[in-house]
Amino acid sequence: AAAALAVLRLSTAAEASPIRKSPPARVRNLIGGEFVESQSEESIDVINPATQEVVSRVPLTTKEEFKAAVDAAKGAFPQWRNTPVTTRQRVMFKLQELIRRDMDKLALNITTEQGKTLKDAQGDVFRGLEVVEHACGMATLQMGEYVTNVSHGIDTYSIREPLGVCAGICPFNFPAMIPLWMFPMAVTCGNTFILKPSEKDPGASMMLAELALEAGLPNGVLNIVHGTNDTVNNICDDDDIKAISFVGSNTAGMHIYARAAAKGKRVQSNMGAKNHAVVLPDASVDATLNCLVAAGFGAAGQRCMALSTTVFVGDSKPWEDELVERAKSLKVSAGVEPGTDLGPVISKQAKDRICRLIQSGIESGARVVLDGRNIGVPGYEDGNFVGPTILADVTSDMECYKEEIFGPVLLLMKAESLDEAIKVVNSNKYGNGASIFTTSGVSARRFQSEIEAGQVGINVPIPVPLPFFSFTGSKASFAGDLNFYGKAGVQFYTQIKTVTQHWKDSSSSQGVSLAMPTSQ
Ligand code: NAD
Repeated sequence: AAAALAVLRLSTAAEASPIRKSPPARVRNLIGGEFVESQSEESIDVINPATQEVVSRVPLTTKEEFKAAVDAAKGAFPQWRNTPVTTRQRVMFKLQELIRRDMDKLALNITTEQGKTLKDAQGDVFRGLEVVEHACGMATLQMGEYVTNVSHGIDTYSIREPLGVCAGICPFNFPAMIPLWMFPMAVTCGNTFILKPSEKDPGASMMLAELALEAGLPNGVLNIVHGTNDTVNNICDDDDIKAISFVGSNTAGMHIYARAAAKGKRVQSNMGAKNHAVVLPDASVDATLNCLVAAGFGAAGQRCMALSTTVFVGDSKPWEDELVERAKSLKVSAGVEPGTDLGPVISKQAKDRICRLIQSGIESGARVVLDGRNIGVPGYEDGNFVGPTILADVTSDMECYKEEIFGPVLLLMKAESLDEAIKVVNSNKYGNGASIFTTSGVSARRFQSEIEAGQVGINVPIPVPLPFFSFTGSKASFAGDLNFYGKAGVQFYTQIKTVTQHWKDSSSSQGVSLAMPTSQ
């Protein structure tokens, strides 16, 4: 939809916008180590969501350019896979240093294109940086296994080899972290890579690619192509691409999962969410309220691990009043403004969707206890702002509960008991994250074992694991079986080869046997 709305035909651009003296620069593709201008006539505007200023334009990469990127990745693979793992790791050591050096520049680009606050943008870069640090230990992570003497004089060992060309397709909400979930792990395993950034905020990916080249990543190991559905479909269909990492919505994720699997590719697909917090009456009040506000409204709710629903066990009224007070005090403005707590949402369409879902909640019986729909932000009157919004008395049949809102909207529900609260969470189709707030270890332990979500928080509202674990969403939040980063990430980007060796002493010939070899 974004593509349909914002596509500009270059041939008519001059007539369409006579005021624009020099049109914003077109973002380039990265093919074989060169940043090249696309020949495509079609572009999408990258828009600052706080001001509507056009920051840059993203080309819809042509089929030929896409193929050139795949060829570059394919051509670079033989030499890169045979490059010692220690050398590959050293590129990552250098890359992490360069990301730290350019942290502020990266964060400013993210705030400009995506809207989140500068501090939050730094967090976006930092959580990606940690994956680069993790990739620095690839020699250990990629170790195989060895059993000596599986039969007389015979040893078996397994080694993990890279797949070849892998690809990554990114969402808009973490312009640095998610590309960094993907290519550092993939290339340090010895693969080469095609990255397709989100068409809404490609800038951070381009800066990271420049840093990767500066760090010494050889030409063709990392390539970038831009575009939307057609580029994605080209990635799914191309026989030279062996694996796809996807993060984004369920519509795109399930399409990519099915289309790429039909071509025999492996896919890891991280998708949408509806993350719940269950608050027990014994929870520590101040800390819990702070967690609910931070996780509900941080990044304007545009995190796949944002807290979108709170289920209060027992009397919810005292919690509700205090929650509204704290949410009201948050400052909504452009991400570059000092003291801002939450910035704009990504687009006008996103704002319309969020407001529509709030309205549908109200119409189906939810009580709006804080309404951020008509917020005015001085100096940024054109921004896509939605203030913190809280809907109470929400029930699980409401559209605002069933759909992912992906905005600064917190839904409040009630349950009589922990059992009932667990039932509510488990009935939801998504399974990214769920948290419990309590001072009872017994309740927390029950929650941990009975809750059907891939990432569980105990007095922690956004339980995103660091890279030595994996990002383990489940149910409709994930398709595939090997998750992002951690051990599973290494397994995703490698295939196992098992070797059985027998070094016979020439004097010990045992003649020919046609029976199935056994070691009885
Ligand atoms: P999106 O699905 O609209 O876009 C993601 C990518 O898919 C983009 O690169 C886009 O060009 C491409 N795409 C979109 N529609 C497509 C289609 N029909 N066919 C082929 N390609 C298509 O997602 P978004 O709006 O950029 O990101 C927000 C979504 O991402 C939310 O649902 C959020 O929960 C999810 N998300 C999930 C995680 C996670 O780890 N589970 C992390 C971040 C974001």
